[in-house]
Amino acid sequence: MKKFLATILAVIISICGLLPCLAADVTACSCGQAPIIYVAALGSGYVFLDAGTENERTLFRPDINDVLNDFTPLLGAAADLISTKDYDAFGDVLISCVNASFGMLALDNEGKSHERVTSEEFHPDTADHGDNYSYYFGYDFRLDPVENAEKLHTFIQEVKELTKHDTVRFRASSMGGVVTLSYIKLYGTKDIENIIFQNCPLQGTAVAGELYNGLFEINKDALIRYAEGALPSMDSDFLGAILYSLIEMLDAAGLWSDILGMADGIILNLKDRVFDEALIPIFGTMPGIWSFVPDEYYETAKTFMKLDERTHGKLLEKLDFYHYDVQQDAGRLLRNAQADGTNIYIVAGYNVQRTPLVTAYKNTSDGTVDTQYASLGATCAYIGEYLPDDYKQAQHTDKVYMSPDRMIDASTCLLPECTWFVKNMLHSTTHSGHDVLYGIFHTSDTQITVFDLEEYPQFIKNDTVHESFIPVTREGTPIQEAFKDAREMTSFLTITKLIYTLFEEFFKWMLG
Ligand SMILES: [Zn+2]
Repeated sequence: MKKFLATILAVIISICGLLPCLAADVTACSCGQAPIIYVAALGSGYVFLDAGTENERTLFRPDINDVLNDFTPLLGAAADLISTKDYDAFGDVLISCVNASFGMLALDNEGKSHERVTSEEFHPDTADHGDNYSYYFGYDFRLDPVENAEKLHTFIQEVKELTKHDTVRFRASSMGGVVTLSYIKLYGTKDIENIIFQNCPLQGTAVAGELYNGLFEINKDALIRYAEGALPSMDSDFLGAILYSLIEMLDAAGLWSDILGMADGIILNLKDRVFDEALIPIFGTMPGIWSFVPDEYYETAKTFMKLDERTHGKLLEKLDFYHYDVQQDAGRLLRNAQADGTNIYIVAGYNVQRTPLVTAYKNTSDGTVDTQYASLGATCAYIGEYLPDDYKQAQHTDKVYMSPDRMIDASTCLLPECTWFVKNMLHSTTHSGHDVLYGIFHTSDTQITVFDLEEYPQFIKNDTVHESFIPVTREGTPIQEAFKDAREMTSFLTITKLIYTLFEEFFKWMLG
């Protein structure tokens, strides 16, 4: 009897197993709006220590109070440093603070996490989909992007199953582009209708390449531009204007130079120790961060970060696979994707000061990713400069790929026709204007090019005041530009900038 029941049960289970296949066509969603998956940026997946226990702590993104607690001893140490000039004592405290806050994030020699350290897993939990809804995919930023791409694959299968669609659409932000590129390498693009790469380090970012080579430098003007570049995205326009004034006044008073003079002393005396005792042990074995290293820095970085074949064989295999078979193969991967019918849109920011701690601080960027790397190959003038007067577009076609402000030549990009440049766009910081543009990309069956949309030519300026974009025009003098910004994007901040620019130019003129 038991055997009989078991047989019946087995038959029922097999029939149930077959049902989804038989029913697939009948229940396919006919809304015509494939689900959108947002492949999020670094830090999208929280990393926990001792998750689920009473000692649970969020390692990343860390709780601000935890970080303040960890770094409190640094205040006393800084005070001591000023009176004693004992850099080593300060270094002891600094290194122990960094290790207390970030030490547990370190991976082992194979690039695997400590067993007490885990990350949240992402699974779709609703069948909602369509043009106005995105599924959020996050991941542990420390791990191999290829490993995260495997999780993305599972996520996509779950979304397809839930929504009854055969295909999805992608919006990848920052590191999400690295994971997406890895996904394309492993699985191709037959499941993907279109992909928007927003501010993605597709060819890396100089800050990673340079830090992994120990190239550390602080430049005052870059630091000031960096701080000021973040102000337009502040919630309070008024506060932004106040901070702008404060930064400018402290500069005029020479205070930044004093502070940086002290920082220079710290770097000179402690750089090697901080690298050897904190940065290399914590970040040296993270494949996620290695994926940001551009090609020109990659092989020398392995030596500087002390990776050797004997100890780190398996890790090096992972790093080389991403670097040579994904990052350096991006051109072929994306061209093939287009040839197979997947529409590709690349959005890169420019004219924002990049992280001012590295030698490459002159690269124009969105603040984090250099424009040349996010755009897959644009020729860019340094921040605050222009391409030379006699510069001619590098690739001769009947189409113009030069920015009207002469800061960018997009003709050298991998996909110049599908690459947009947003002037003054801060890294992965968007407003409703982006949603409108991305909506146009996402709802087109055919590939839109930079010549198709009158409102959105290849070079557009970010208007954070009206949450929209303005086509980039010829660059005028600093005063003309400040006037134009104050008129087009009237706010406390743009008016304050105009006043300071007038003063600055007046004094320059006075001093001849
Ligand atoms: Zn549908």
